Amino acid sequence: MTSYKELGLCNTVDLFKKAVAGGYAIPAYNFNNMEQMQAIIQACVETRSPVIMQVSSGARKYANSHLLRNMARGAVEYAAELGYKIPIVLHLDHGDSYELCVDCIENGFSSVMIDGSSLPYEENVALTKKVCEYAHSRKDYVSVEGELGVLAGVEDEVSSEHSHYTQPSEVQDFVKKTGVDSLAISIGTSHGRMKFKPEQCTRTADGVLIPPPLRFDILAEIEKRLPGFPIVLHGSSSVPIEYVKMIEKFGGKLSDSVGIPEEQLRRASKSAVCKINIDSDGRLAMTAIIRKVFAEKPDEFDPRKYLGPARDELKKLYMHKNKEVLGSAGQA
Ligand SMILES: [Zn+2]
Repeated sequence: MTSYKELGLCNTVDLFKKAVAGGYAIPAYNFNNMEQMQAIIQACVETRSPVIMQVSSGARKYANSHLLRNMARGAVEYAAELGYKIPIVLHLDHGDSYELCVDCIENGFSSVMIDGSSLPYEENVALTKKVCEYAHSRKDYVSVEGELGVLAGVEDEVSSEHSHYTQPSEVQDFVKKTGVDSLAISIGTSHGRMKFKPEQCTRTADGVLIPPPLRFDILAEIEKRLPGFPIVLHGSSSVPIEYVKMIEKFGGKLSDSVGIPEEQLRRASKSAVCKINIDSDGRLAMTAIIRKVFAEKPDEFDPRKYLGPARDELKKLYMHKNKEVLGSAGQA
């Protein structure tokens, strides 16, 4: 058994307290491989941003839990070598069982999400409470994220055809009964690169889809009932049109892609929203650059020559998010 403190990681408790008070959100970037991890650490060290490196259960199977644990340890040492020790959290994204959460905690995770949002309310409460009791009783306190409300879209194993907005009337009871440290809510964000159907959107003159706005009224109602309590937004990629166009220019096909406009995320991050999850944008950035290299240099076969530029683009994207969207730059 490895505690996260042995790896040099931290939990989210103090980070969220500061983020809520300071009106910014901490980036939660997903990773499955070395290049993504390097880009996350480089970008967050350079912008002096705290960071949550998160792993879904699918990513954990893909990468192997021993490798992940040691990559997290390596991330802490790498940040120090780059010249600035930023706070780093290793977080389980969408944990779907008590057993998985326990296994992650025993393998160095400093934070876990237990996602019981698809269960009936009372079952969600019972499962989330059980995970909190375990996580909070460790010698080194592990933070727990719960979820109320269902996001539409597809992300690894998590998928749902329809979204259900979080009911503000349930949030106080849920937090009190479970003891969660933060709460993921559904106010109109969505997993994946097709966050809305075209018929839910309007179009600009040049055909770009504009999604329906986030439900800031629900967020305000939740904040009123849970003053200062850390709120999490999933599915918050903006699906930049330049990456979609680059992918399509070099042979890909990503029709009807649409994300959450960055101005809306900027607005959310100034509220009690203190963790914003971004995965699809990173996937798009890497794919766009790799396709470009393959198309422009057909004789290239050294993986470093396409994964390297993809990593550089990812770093650029994350620096932009920290500085212009989440406001986390300079907060480490
Ligand atoms: Zn999610």
